[in-house]
Amino acid sequence: MNLVFLGPPGAGKGTIAALAKDYYQIPHISTGDLFRSNIKNETELGKQVKSILASGGLVPDEVTIAMVRNRLEEKDAARGFILDGFPRTIPQADALEGMAKLDAVVNFVLADEEIIKRLSGRRICKSTGRTYHVVFNPPKKEGIDDETGEPLIQRDDDKPEAIKHRLEVYAASTEPLIDYYRKKGLIVDLDASKSPEEVMRQLASLVKA
Ligand code: ADP
Ligand code: ADP
Repeated sequence: MNLVFLGPPGAGKGTIAALAKDYYQIPHISTGDLFRSNIKNETELGKQVKSILASGGLVPDEVTIAMVRNRLEEKDAARGFILDGFPRTIPQADALEGMAKLDAVVNFVLADEEIIKRLSGRRICKSTGRTYHVVFNPPKKEGIDDETGEPLIQRDDDKPEAIKHRLEVYAASTEPLIDYYRKKGLIVDLDASKSPEEVMRQLASLVKA
């Protein structure tokens, strides 16, 4: 099963992917997580993209496409994948066509006010990437990861100036992909405003394992 999760930042793609990867038994491949782990490990790629991520802009297509191509060649992706955060531009979508045949593109639909609430309350554990929300999904102990005990942080790009910029970038560069994939008959729309469990139920009923 080859799936793409499409939708604005903060719509819950990563949260649902964590449930869907077990349900469909396929790996969750998040380009944002891949970039953040390169930044954390101070790789060449990490150094190249650090300031782009902090500002909420997009990493150039060639760099992003090369990273995804490498990742899809890894053994675990042979059974399928959930691509979360890729493609984000038409050239990326064109490149993906040459790499794999998609079964569905899941479009997470959520109103802007809700997106802003979700992004501004998002907290993550830097080493595992696990995601929380101060109100909607708080950790057991405030500010601390449930499993590693590490302090939770707020991503630089979840601060107000970057959030605004990311929503503009989404509207200009990524939203056109909804039409692109709708014309190919691949779009499955999800009402992302419900609880994670309910969104996962919708997904399972629309995209059969
Ligand atoms: P969110 O989960 O909020 O949608 P991501 O974790 O997917 O954000 O992405 C974080 C950042 O990583 C993006 O703002 C962008 O700078 C970079 N990035 C992730 N995926 C891509 C992509 N497909 N193309 C270009 N840049 C990307
Ligand atoms: P994305 O990967 O699309 O950027 P995330 O999965 O990181 O989105 O979710 C963004 C924020 O919203 C996180 O703080 C997460 O805990 C919270 N969240 C995710 N799904 C839901 C939901 N269905 N209801 C309420 N909050 C949610």
